[in-house]
This record gives sequence, structure tokens and C-alpha cells, in this order.
Amino acid sequence: MILVLKENASKSQIDNLIQWLKSRGVETHLSVGKYQTILGLVGDTSGLDEDMLSSLDFVETVKRIREPFKNANRKFHPDDTVIDICGRKIGGGHFQIIAGPCSVESKEQITYIAREVQKSGAGLLRGGAFKPRTSPYAFQGLRGEGLELLMEARKETGLPIVTEIMDASHLPLFEDVDVIQVGARNMQNFELLKELGKIRKPIRLKRGMANTIQELLMSAEYIMAGGNEQVILCERGIRTFETYTRNTLDLSAIPVIKELSHLPVVIDPSHSTGHSRFVRSMSLAAAAAGADGLIIEVHNDPQRALCDGPQSITPDAFSKLVPDIKAILAVTGKRMD
Ligand code: PEP
Ligand code: MN
Repeated sequence: MILVLKENASKSQIDNLIQWLKSRGVETHLSVGKYQTILGLVGDTSGLDEDMLSSLDFVETVKRIREPFKNANRKFHPDDTVIDICGRKIGGGHFQIIAGPCSVESKEQITYIAREVQKSGAGLLRGGAFKPRTSPYAFQGLRGEGLELLMEARKETGLPIVTEIMDASHLPLFEDVDVIQVGARNMQNFELLKELGKIRKPIRLKRGMANTIQELLMSAEYIMAGGNEQVILCERGIRTFETYTRNTLDLSAIPVIKELSHLPVVIDPSHSTGHSRFVRSMSLAAAAAGADGLIIEVHNDPQRALCDGPQSITPDAFSKLVPDIKAILAVTGKRMD
């Protein structure tokens, strides 16, 4: 980090700042020029508040040289992270498709969809048991019973399961879940993220609908700082002024995150577009842009789905999509296994 100081900065102000930084474990290098004084900060500056430093009346500007995230940063971990979920790998050339309904509705529904998506090549099964709904009157999910039904579907198909947690107090119920999802609305629930940092299980972290890529990486950092390094990032669309789609899918997040971080990135074409008819094109585009996986909502009867029917594709549409994704992966050099 570099601080450019104002011309009127007094020696005592500068000395005080240097001493304070030292007490925070940060060494400094002062360069006094004819017109400008520059203070270079050496060491771990991730705990420093840039805005606080900028607000000092003798500081002109503050420039961060290194990103505030460490564990998620590619600079300190040049190789892609590969996450192994019961033998299914994601990241570093391994591509996975996670498919299933928005919500688990019944034993018949989840096992039928699980079998269908597995036949077509899905590597993992998704299904919400605890649902974050905008309206408290909408279907809230089957909760604990939903988790049990997911586990039964896993037993039938062998597909590892991915499902959302909404509160850290539910963690004991998630002990047997293979991948825990943090939804967009909880991306900055820092207490939840800290609890997920204490466990040793892959976490799929969805980007908040109004969050920057840096904020997503800082949320990943919360989990990783606790020692849980298995984080899968997910772009699921952000809110813009556009209304034809439910959200705006930020596909550029893929190359940007790939440059900044070693963590795998998956794309959610369902929540980002909100319409089943756009899921195919966005899935193919995401694969072409270098994503490490997709999470797609699939429902056997979208019109009667209890949640997110309009964006759910049928098992038939899913079966036609998978071979085309594989064709694109042949170009990007990734494989689905
Ligand atoms: C979901 O995956 O079902 C979900 C609720 O997604 P999001 O958090 O992205 O809205
Ligand atoms: Mn959904």
C-alpha cells in the first residue's frame, strides 16, 4: 500500500502514523521528495482500513498495490484449486454439472429428477430444503425432511448432494451433505461464513445480487481464513436496470476471477436469466468462457414447481444440452468425468 501525503503534513503527524502502523505489524518506507512525500507500507496490510487512512487530513491518496484477499489470491497459490467431492473433481481442468430442482418437493420428485439428470451426465444433485424466499407466505422448503429426501436420492443414484444453508444453527443437520451452498442473500452473512470456515467440507458460495467480484472474494476469504480452503465460487447474475432477464449474468466474472483467484468458478444460468428458454445459450457461453462447472435447475413439471418453475428446464432439455456442453469443453481443454 502506498500513501501520498499532503504538502502540509507535519513531522509529528507522519511519526505518529509510522508508530501506529508499526504497532499493527506494518513497516514503512518514507520518501521525502521536493514536492511530494510518499509513505510505502511493507508487510501484511490486509487488516488496514483504506478509507480510514484516506480520511486522515494530511493524507492525499491511498493506493492498494495488493488485493485485500490472501487465501483466495492466485498470487500466493498460482495453481488452480481442485476440489474433490466424493471422487468428482471440479477446478483445474475438471468440469462438473450440478443439476436438480430448485426445491425438494417429494420423494418421488427428487428421486425421479436425480435419476434423469444422472443418466444425462450430471455429476452432482442440487435441491433446496431450506429456501430463502422473498415472501414469507411462499413455500419455504421441506427443511429437515428435504435433506433426508436428498440423501435418499443420493443413495439411489450415487450423486453427491448440494444444498443451501441459511443459518449456522442448522449445521448439525448438514453433517451428511456433500457440498453446502451459501445463497446470494447470505453472501455477506459473515457469522455464517465464519462457522463454515470451521468445518472441512466444500462450500459453494454464490455472488450476492448487488456485490462486486472483490466482495465475493472477500467472503470466500472469511471461509478460508478459518482453515476451510474448499470454496467453489458461483456467479448467479447481478441486479442491473435490465428487466428482460431476472438478473444480468456477468460472464466476464469468469475470466476476471480466474485471473485473481485459484478457486473454481461455476455459473448458474437459471437464477441469472430467470427463463428456461435462455438457460441453454448461457450454459454454452459459460462453458466457452472457461467456467469450471454449471448449476442448472431441472424440473419434471416446471409449470407445477413449488419454486422457480419458469427458469427450470425439463430432463429432456437437459439431456440435449449436456452433449453440446461437452463439445465446447473439448475446445476449452476441460473434461467432465
Ligand atoms: C438457489 O440456488 O436455489 C438460490 C436460492 O439461488 P440464489 O441464492 O442465487 O438466489
Ligand atoms: Mn431456485
